[in-house]
Amino acid sequence: MATGNPEQNAPAAPPVDFIRTIVADDLASGKHHGRVATRFPPEPNGYLHIGHAKSICLNFGIAEETGGTCNLRFDDTNPTKEDVEYVDAIKEDVEWLGFSWDALFYASDYFEALYQFAVELIKGGKAYVDSLKADQIREHRGSLTEPGRNSPYRDRTVEESLDLFARMRAGEFEDGAHVLRAKIDMASPNLNMRDPTLYRIRHAAHHRTGDAWCIYPMYDFAHPLSDALERITHSLCTLEFEDHRPLYDWLVNTLIEGDRPRQIEFARLNVNYTVMSKRKLLQLVQQGHVSGWDDPRLPTITGLRRRGYTPESIRDFCARIGMAKKENVIDVAQLEHAVREDLNRRAPRVMVVLRPVKVVITNYPEGRVEEVDVINNPEDPSAGTRKVPFSRVLYIEREDFREDPPKKFFRLSPGKEVRLRCAYFITCTEVVKDDRGEIVELRCVYDPATRGGDSPDGRRVKATLHWVSAAHAIGVEVRLYDRLFSVEDPERAPEGKTFLDNLNPHSLEVLSDCRAEPSLVTASPATRWQFERIGYFSVDPDSRAGALVFNRTVSLRDTWAKIEQKQQADS
Ligand code: ATP
Ligand code: MG
Repeated sequence: MATGNPEQNAPAAPPVDFIRTIVADDLASGKHHGRVATRFPPEPNGYLHIGHAKSICLNFGIAEETGGTCNLRFDDTNPTKEDVEYVDAIKEDVEWLGFSWDALFYASDYFEALYQFAVELIKGGKAYVDSLKADQIREHRGSLTEPGRNSPYRDRTVEESLDLFARMRAGEFEDGAHVLRAKIDMASPNLNMRDPTLYRIRHAAHHRTGDAWCIYPMYDFAHPLSDALERITHSLCTLEFEDHRPLYDWLVNTLIEGDRPRQIEFARLNVNYTVMSKRKLLQLVQQGHVSGWDDPRLPTITGLRRRGYTPESIRDFCARIGMAKKENVIDVAQLEHAVREDLNRRAPRVMVVLRPVKVVITNYPEGRVEEVDVINNPEDPSAGTRKVPFSRVLYIEREDFREDPPKKFFRLSPGKEVRLRCAYFITCTEVVKDDRGEIVELRCVYDPATRGGDSPDGRRVKATLHWVSAAHAIGVEVRLYDRLFSVEDPERAPEGKTFLDNLNPHSLEVLSDCRAEPSLVTASPATRWQFERIGYFSVDPDSRAGALVFNRTVSLRDTWAKIEQKQQADS
């Protein structure tokens, strides 16, 4: 749990990194006439994940910090994989993270303009229609060690290419019959410069343009020119596009006058114990390994939101991981740390018993109910107190009792005295079991002089337990989440196995018989709470009136688990 140290709790200051340094230098030199324009360009073929959050925080963050603009642009150039469901979800996620775009665009808005750019290239002798088949094109491309070979169609006349390209657009040819290629250099050491494909024929309906087009631009063609059309100054993307930068520059230098966008690459965010590729996330969703894109075990923004993450914690996390030029893997514990710190500041405390065992206080009068003042936040006196009913029959956590306590187990055991939080000291006098030897009830006595949880004679106890009054508690369901994968790098699977073989079979545990203090009955959807001594929880949308469901966002640090682990290791 976070400490009271304000420095440790303060959100990270706006970071300084190599990209922000470039932007500042460009502002200082007047390179883009003092403008800063960025964009976030998701492909609407899946939901956003924590990696996208890094890119969102970077692009929108730089615009905010410099008084510039940031557009949201859907890179919807591939009609077969894209869907409006994803468009809507992406908008919702960006807004939820706390950002607003200056303008909203779709690459498909530019289909006509992009077509005209392609025509201009053909007219300038810088593009041609190739009629090789896909596998022949691949074969002509060469390899990293071998130069490529020119297509026999490379020297087609401008007129012939213009005619074929127009007929491609008009729908005269089948998929794959022709492509438009840039005429650059088949011997280039960079494979992306070996006459890259700019347009392909695809008779497929597009979610925005319908059947208006049957040729679609390639990402590498559409992206730099969309940037230019929006007058983007800094086009920030992940490292795998570094080798595409020469093509980016070739296109904007060939087709754009004056103030051209510049591509800058940064390392993508990787987090251990999870997968981030949209293809793999889609597979997890479609094959039912998770309940949907918003399953709280997924690294999707919608999953993290359902799990109880705050936008502030995600932004804080993105600020803290910084901006590297080399691939690295971030420990998921760092993400958990960010949300734990944030929720420590904002989540009200309540007592909830996850795995209840009954406690009967034999010397407490039958029928009596006291309203005990429970301190809301021991670290923050200004948070005040709340009334919690206390009575003769209570529930405590099953794991807070051991009949035969190991060394250093300071919680309840026969003859041992403990404190019930802000209530009384109790001592266990008897353990009642059923025929199978399962504990059904713990009989205890309380010391009336310890009301409020303090002993007037200075008697000390080593443990303070949370509790609820059996007659007043409400039943709730609690879903405990663990890592979705049981290994750090799920994508590294042995021969013949896939990342699915690395799924953690215990990633979800549903506890349907938990007991919560009565104040929680009014908890509304998506509110976040600290269950004392356990962790942070948020109300799941599956909740119904009288049937609340909580998701564990993150646990508090469990010192006992560490001690036990160490003892096991030592023995
Ligand atoms: P995938 O290849 O996993 O399907 P993608 O990179 O193709 O994902 P896009 O929708 O094209 O997904 O991504 C939108 C923007 O977010 C791009 O600028 C991309 O570079 C960035 N981005 C995607 N994944 C990450 C990541 N893990 N870390 C940082 N930025 C990312
Ligand atoms: Mg992409």
